[in-house]
Amino acid sequence: MTNTAPITQDVLTIPRKLPEGPVNIVGLTRDRLREVLIAHGTPEKQARMRVNQIWQWVYGWGVRDFAEMTNLSKAYRAELAEKFVIQIPEIVNREISADGTRKYLVRIAGGHEVEVVYIPETDRGTLCISSQVGCTLTCSFCHTGTQKLVRNLTAGEIIGQVMLARDDLDEWPTKGQGFGTEGPRLLSNIVLMGMGEPLYNFDNVRDAMKIAMDGEGIALSRRRITLSTSGIVPEIHKTAEEIGCMLAVSFHATTDEVRDKLVPINRKWNIAALLEALRDYPKASNSERITFEYVMLKDVNDSDEDARRLVKLIKGIPAKINLIPFNEWPGAPHQRSDWERIERFADIVYKAGYASPIRTPRGEDIMAACGQLKSATERARKSRKDIEAEAGL
Ligand code: SAH
Ligand code: SF4
Repeated sequence: MTNTAPITQDVLTIPRKLPEGPVNIVGLTRDRLREVLIAHGTPEKQARMRVNQIWQWVYGWGVRDFAEMTNLSKAYRAELAEKFVIQIPEIVNREISADGTRKYLVRIAGGHEVEVVYIPETDRGTLCISSQVGCTLTCSFCHTGTQKLVRNLTAGEIIGQVMLARDDLDEWPTKGQGFGTEGPRLLSNIVLMGMGEPLYNFDNVRDAMKIAMDGEGIALSRRRITLSTSGIVPEIHKTAEEIGCMLAVSFHATTDEVRDKLVPINRKWNIAALLEALRDYPKASNSERITFEYVMLKDVNDSDEDARRLVKLIKGIPAKINLIPFNEWPGAPHQRSDWERIERFADIVYKAGYASPIRTPRGEDIMAACGQLKSATERARKSRKDIEAEAGL
């Protein structure tokens, strides 16, 4: 489809040359870590082994101080401490909801803040992380969409969110006790469903998730990581190829007319283009279904016809449909659909052969629901007029 909607994206480039001052190790891929170690004087012959050792300390056992890396010589530890740091974002506030949900307010370089949410369930625990501060897109129902993009998070800040949650949950194995791959884990799943559009920060998200999946570190299986996108069609294929994680798509509407308003990126890549990319998603199979996220908005996208159109549209795609009761926020231009309506919608989808779980609102007492993360201190706001104009409201 042709489209002229003014949707733009500011991409910050990652400097590839050595920065001045100590280098942060967190967020570097194994290859990049090897490069910087060599550039700072580690003999090339030893570099691979040093990468392995440092990697295990940092990502396997959660160590932040070179002095504790006892399988490295004292002299080498001192050298590392001079040239490198092991730095993750700082938790500035933590709230724990009555249902156990934990919301962290996290400060990153430049004084910006993002939120991270940990949602415990009986057999697993999911961490919802952010990929950008703010978002360039302006989905009408999303609070992040009211905040201008401040910047992309670095790979270190993305994986750092996982590390700080592991710190808080006290879930780092001790050296010599494996990497936690065998036992049940408190933090067993990651969803990229916080602030921002992960596919507009592709390289950093990829590098961070590669670190999360590395078997000698955090060691989460790719099936336990879900990336949610609003539908950045050209990047979808790359997600399967270069990250290999599970995919969720913010679908939210069954006609272009409605989706153009709710998810304005639809004007650039419409429903047909999106579905085509999903049909080609190399990983989609019955055991690895694509999640279609569908926010339930009263009298906007929640009719029986919508439910029927939805199942027709996605026919042939291995899918499950996650119905999300709209999380209201002050000034939002929508209301949550009635409970009976959501159940009726779910029933139609279910009878057509798709799993259609209704996402239980979690941590509502601390406003921690994933997908509406908000930072009280983030002042850069898009004007309501901009949002309404974008959404055609
Ligand atoms: N930018 C990505 C990921 C972040 S949003 C995306 O749009 O997919 C994660 C999910 O929460 C998306 O499906 C988003 O549409 C949904 N969401 C955002 N605001 C919401 C709200 N107020 N209530 C319910 N779901 C919301
Ligand atoms: Fe951005 Fe996703 Fe919110 Fe849309 S729903 S504004 S893409 S964070």
